[in-house]
Amino acid sequence: MDVVNPATGETVETYETDSSAEVEAKLDRATDAFETWRDRPLREREELLARAGEVLRENKHEYAETMTEEMGKPISQSIGEVEKCAWVCDHYAEHASAYLEPDGHPSPPGTRVKTVYDPLGPVLAVMPWNFPLWQVFRFAAPYLVAGNVGLLKHASNVPGSALAIEEVFREAGFPEGVFQTLLIPSSAVEDVLVDHRVRAATLTGSGPAGRAVASTAGDNLKKTVLELGGSDPFVVLDDADIEAAVETGTWARNLNGGQSCIAAKRFIVHTDVYDAFVDRFVSEVEALVVGDPTDEDTDVGPQARAGLMTELHEQVEASVEAGATVLTGGEPLDGDGAFYPPTVLADVPEGCPADTEETFGPVASVYEVDDEAAAIEKANDTEFGLGASVWTEDRHRGEAIARRIDAGCVYVNELVKSDPRVPFGGIKESGYGRELSEPGIKEFVNRKTVWVN
Ligand code: NAP
Repeated sequence: MDVVNPATGETVETYETDSSAEVEAKLDRATDAFETWRDRPLREREELLARAGEVLRENKHEYAETMTEEMGKPISQSIGEVEKCAWVCDHYAEHASAYLEPDGHPSPPGTRVKTVYDPLGPVLAVMPWNFPLWQVFRFAAPYLVAGNVGLLKHASNVPGSALAIEEVFREAGFPEGVFQTLLIPSSAVEDVLVDHRVRAATLTGSGPAGRAVASTAGDNLKKTVLELGGSDPFVVLDDADIEAAVETGTWARNLNGGQSCIAAKRFIVHTDVYDAFVDRFVSEVEALVVGDPTDEDTDVGPQARAGLMTELHEQVEASVEAGATVLTGGEPLDGDGAFYPPTVLADVPEGCPADTEETFGPVASVYEVDDEAAAIEKANDTEFGLGASVWTEDRHRGEAIARRIDAGCVYVNELVKSDPRVPFGGIKESGYGRELSEPGIKEFVNRKTVWVN
């Protein structure tokens, strides 16, 4: 696996993939580790997780630099990501016992019946490169503390981040085999997934990858959680605080170089405030600093891989050919590295790539709508259903609209985000299942009924 720094185009590291014998040994180790890990008191597992949070904080600069080098995330955002990983460790270290408290039931006389939450075993996690640490800790913190063991197949362009995560758990004192990284290509995932030692799988990534993993898991009757793509609407109503909407919208689209499943991608703006919003939005977007991701002042770094930038630009070109207008950006930047400027498209015709597909980069589509009903209709006019953001000064109106949007989460006057305290996940082509909070820790447990006479 070659790691190419997307800011320079240079190969910075090469990793050997695991041989089949090495994968076999890791599967055995996972099975052995599970037998003792599941019996470890929950309180001890919580303590180890809290320690993992400390290791992350102690080494945050080192881990952040690895991410930035591997996939181009601006360094200040990489540091923020490491800190967020520590937060999810803290969260489950503090709340796992309460989340996994057995539930009592009305019991027949003379019996005691309850539901307990036992772990399932080794869980395979197939993860993407865009938040190389956060996506992994979002699954690992709850699943490991619940008593499962983890096998990570990370994206092929971030093996250094994958090994760093393994190191965090090792340094924190987790027993050998509780969390392991498999350095394997996607073509080797199926063999691991069908193996009887693997009990369940979670995948964060694209629709095709999700379908492949879910169908193999389905054939083998293994449970899956899928966190897939999105084309989130950002709805600005006639009574919105335009300044706040512009400020948040600029970040909602361009954070992480626009490479986020929950980035705002379609800006749906009421006609009464359309000009005011779009003028300011374009100015804010143009003020973003694009450049060297190791510079603390950089807002937008390179796209993670040159090929991904080419695909993004093809989507823009096809949309412009179909009639979209470029208000700013729209052409890759000259020089080394995969730099694409923050771009705003207006007059986006129905059915063109910027309208129907996920644009996984800093490209915003803006739409003008006549009223609230048209805004909701356009927000729901997508095969995806991950997140949505609605802007209005009337909180009741915002909440009512939230109930009518087909998405796994709707934020009113706020950026869509994944927060350890609240459930996260999608519907429709954005996947199924939930991560984080209490539902997140209960996805991969055996809800076991225990009846005692
Ligand atoms: P991707 O190409 O689907 O890759 C994701 C992971 O799946 C990688 O580890 C990849 O391995 C593996 N993979 C790809 N094809 C596979 C297959 N047929 N069988 C098994 N594994 C396979 O996605 P990406 O380009 O890395 O990430 C971007 C996508 O992820 C976007 O669509 C984004 O919206 C989505 N995403 C969703 C969420 C969410 O929470 N809903 C969060 C972040 C990202 P290789 O690298 O070896 O190919």
